[in-house]
Amino acid sequence: MKNILAYLENHTTDILADLEILVRIESPSNDVEGINRLQHVTQSWLGEFGQINRHSSRLGDIVHAHIQGQSNERIVFLAHIDTVYPVGAWENLWRVTDGLAYGPGTYDMKGGVIQAIWALRAIKSLGLTPASNIDFLLTPDEESGSEIGRPYIEDIAKGAKAVLVLEPPFMNGDLKVARKGVGEYKFNIYGRAAHQGLEPQNGQNAIVSAAHLISELVKLQDWDKGTTLGPNVIQGGTVSNVVADHAALEVDLRVWSLEEAERADKALRAIQPLDGTRYEISGGLNRPPMEPSEGSLKLFDKARTIANEIGFDVGASRVGGGSDGNFTSHLAPTLDGFGAFGAGAHQKNIEHIHIASLVPRSALIAGMLIK
Ligand SMILES: [Zn+2]
Repeated sequence: MKNILAYLENHTTDILADLEILVRIESPSNDVEGINRLQHVTQSWLGEFGQINRHSSRLGDIVHAHIQGQSNERIVFLAHIDTVYPVGAWENLWRVTDGLAYGPGTYDMKGGVIQAIWALRAIKSLGLTPASNIDFLLTPDEESGSEIGRPYIEDIAKGAKAVLVLEPPFMNGDLKVARKGVGEYKFNIYGRAAHQGLEPQNGQNAIVSAAHLISELVKLQDWDKGTTLGPNVIQGGTVSNVVADHAALEVDLRVWSLEEAERADKALRAIQPLDGTRYEISGGLNRPPMEPSEGSLKLFDKARTIANEIGFDVGASRVGGGSDGNFTSHLAPTLDGFGAFGAGAHQKNIEHIHIASLVPRSALIAGMLIK
């Protein structure tokens, strides 16, 4: 590991300069032009190491690099290149101060992309070959739900020896061995309108029925198991003197296990509406939970050993937010959090990384590839 670390240390300025290139190309989800311009850069960089397939989609291009290793086993890198900020949202696209680099996507997750690319550069420049073949996938729509990326991600994960997700580590630097599954539900609640003064008895109030629904929904939470249901958006009614005939509710479900997802899904669909009203439910589990497995915990042990060899320690964390790793943990051992150490994900003008972490974390990725 010493030679890899020395190589990366000698290139600290170049690593940071490459990150700046990616950050300055704004690439919010749905901005096809920005996404494709950025993928042009990643494609040219990854072209140094292997063969590139570029797939176009209505949300921008997917870049898929195949890199030859010593065995036919496969390691998968997952990265998304979209960010959450509209073009022009940041005051300064790039700012370096006190050892921190600020910019849209520095932390989530262009820093991780750069670390993996430099891990590959270090390996190649030192005349080494990765232990296994590598499939490196860069998708354009993780922040908007991965509708486009998901089939590619699942396809590539099948049969892989390991899936390494280049999302940022936990805020204390830990790798991520578990992520909650995420469900999104929309309820339409229908009642019957009537004049509130003349014939209130003939109305069926959809908002009252929605209130009943909400109080039943929150009873399905299980804090010990980490299952939460957030009724976080509600709309309803027309004017104050008409009995409300419609309400709409959006609910966020989070679970650690598929079993809990199934329990909550079944129970919420079974809630009985108040007399004279009805519920229409759409949506469901969007991302299954990323559950730890024997394979993923083994990967974590390996990563920790390599990190210690490099000179830092990493723990294993469980987090509530989802990533594309949620789609792969039931297909192949998946370990998340190989990105850059920093903070402020999704926070305009605040998101940043610790520059000093780029080299050791890139070396960690290189270590995972050669061992
Ligand atoms: Zn991300």
